[in-house]
Amino acid sequence: MSYGRILLKFSGDLIAAGKERGAAGGAGGLVGDLVEVHGSGVQVGVVVGGGNLLRGAEVSRDGTMGRAAADAVGMLGTVINALVLEDLLERSGVAARVLSALHINALVEPHNRRRALWHLEKGRVVIFAGGTGNSYLTTDTAAALRAAEIGAQALLKATKVDGIYAADPMVDRGAERFDRLSYTEVLKRQLGIMDAAAVSICRETGIPIVVFDGMRRGNLQAVVRGEIVGTVVGGEDQHE
Ligand code: UDP
Repeated sequence: MSYGRILLKFSGDLIAAGKERGAAGGAGGLVGDLVEVHGSGVQVGVVVGGGNLLRGAEVSRDGTMGRAAADAVGMLGTVINALVLEDLLERSGVAARVLSALHINALVEPHNRRRALWHLEKGRVVIFAGGTGNSYLTTDTAAALRAAEIGAQALLKATKVDGIYAADPMVDRGAERFDRLSYTEVLKRQLGIMDAAAVSICRETGIPIVVFDGMRRGNLQAVVRGEIVGTVVGGEDQHE
């Protein structure tokens, strides 16, 4: 099936990749794909991560910072990335608005579900910043929550790999890759592609998750058309 309203999640690394590679995160890359998808009439919400700047769990694990403070910095990082993305989109001719779980009124609107829906219906890309606004969580969970709130038909997670594998394909080159998985199987096998909290929210709300290679141009359009690109998590728990 093709989708009319999607929630696209991508990590801060993909924005940073644009800086190094010129186009990957810019108008010729994933953002270019996003512009095309939006131009075809699809309503798009985006959750962008902040991992290129700081990941709270990592920084607190090595003792550099306390966890809550590190998470606060991480959440602020997502606001920075959201502003970068908003600018990229607007300079590509696409109206975009940042709604943030952290209130920074001079720069972004405070998150509000009805406001998000209003912007989507006006044809604006809505960028959800600040994660969930709570420490000890990640932007994957924020993506699942926002997808549920806006009634997205799918949560599309753009990553640097082309789907979900049984083990990290960067480490184990022979790792099995899945076309399709149930939510329960992802949770049981502890496939680290996404937070358990995010997968649970999608299972509860029945929102399919598509994990795909966000570095490959045209993939986003293909996913939105309903083509099998990457790994789809959802449907029946047929693998149990
Ligand atoms: N974060 C948080 N609460 C949230 C979302 C994010 O505390 O609801 C913090 C957390 O420290 C996280 C960082 O912000 O590591 C950046 O987000 P994330 O790691 O999800 O970014 P990504 O890996 O997707 O770039």
